[in-house]
Amino acid sequence: MMNEEIPDLNAFDDASLNAAFGELERQARNADGEINSEAAVEAFRLKWLGRKQGLLNEVSSRWLKAAPVEARKALGIRFNALKAVVDGLLEAALGSGPSDAALAAEAIDITLPGTRRLTGAEHPITRTLNEITRVFAALGYSVGVGPEVETDYYNFECMNFPPGHPARDTQDTLVVAGQERKPLRDRLLLRTHTSPVQMRTMEAQPPPVRIVIPGKVHRNDAADATHSPIFHQVEGLCVDTNITFSDLKGTLDHAMKALFGSSVKTRFFPSFFPFTEPSADVQISCIFCGGKGCRKCKNSGWIELLGCGMVDPAVFAFAAEKQPGYDPKKISGFAFGMGVERIAMMKYGISEIGSFYAGDMRFLGQFA
Ligand SMILES: [Zn+2]
Repeated sequence: MMNEEIPDLNAFDDASLNAAFGELERQARNADGEINSEAAVEAFRLKWLGRKQGLLNEVSSRWLKAAPVEARKALGIRFNALKAVVDGLLEAALGSGPSDAALAAEAIDITLPGTRRLTGAEHPITRTLNEITRVFAALGYSVGVGPEVETDYYNFECMNFPPGHPARDTQDTLVVAGQERKPLRDRLLLRTHTSPVQMRTMEAQPPPVRIVIPGKVHRNDAADATHSPIFHQVEGLCVDTNITFSDLKGTLDHAMKALFGSSVKTRFFPSFFPFTEPSADVQISCIFCGGKGCRKCKNSGWIELLGCGMVDPAVFAFAAEKQPGYDPKKISGFAFGMGVERIAMMKYGISEIGSFYAGDMRFLGQFA
């Protein structure tokens, strides 16, 4: 196929070659102003360098083949020069690159802050619960867990709250409906304390026992600034031969110092719990005023923090039904229980117990 834009070449002397290649170079340079878009650049490339119908291909096949041997070198030099001109024009057209507007649209501002992923953190209740657990783990205690939906037997009866005992009224809770036909001891309720796990642990293993029991408990308490119908406890149980009240005092004194600082003092007051005898309330010296007296401790210098006592022989008698090793004549033990929310509120200066459960990120973010 003849290409009309290729001039005729009738002789192969220098003058004729110069004229013919000069004409082609002029054509190429004339097109320069028009190759200003992507499509135009591609059209120019196809016109000159296309494999099938490109002008340079045509020139090569028409002129080079027709040229006598002695003229081929001169023709080749001019051909390569013309190709260099075409390549140069293409390169220049491509080099001008995309428009400023296109660049601006794709621009990335590397000075902008990146996308930050929120890091997870322990909830203050979980954190406090773990802190308490760690203190006792260091003393050789293991961790026990038990069901939150518990039977009347484990929650009350075996903890020495017999049916009709007035202490049951202080731990009113939600009961599962439709169980009237069951014997009282088998009826299900939401546990009011973690103490049932004491019995479940003793039934599962002979003495000695050293265990802490963290967990969620439920009571029919009206919610206010310091009470919630759902809260958390850490319970502790230690059973062995020759466990005395001194061991209990020493253990809790150490634990309170580990949790609140070595300058904290403890003192014990007589109290009542059905499952311990004798029972005591434990106070620590006020961590806010150091014992001088302030608003937080109601000017007493002391803050009541947990309950404890020596395990009541009646509780061991229940355990001995399945594990004879819990003979109250041969072994003794102590138990204690503390509210996790109360300790967390003191440690972190939180005044509303509801803050723990509201899921407000502004509150929770402080613990990240
Ligand atoms: Zn105080």
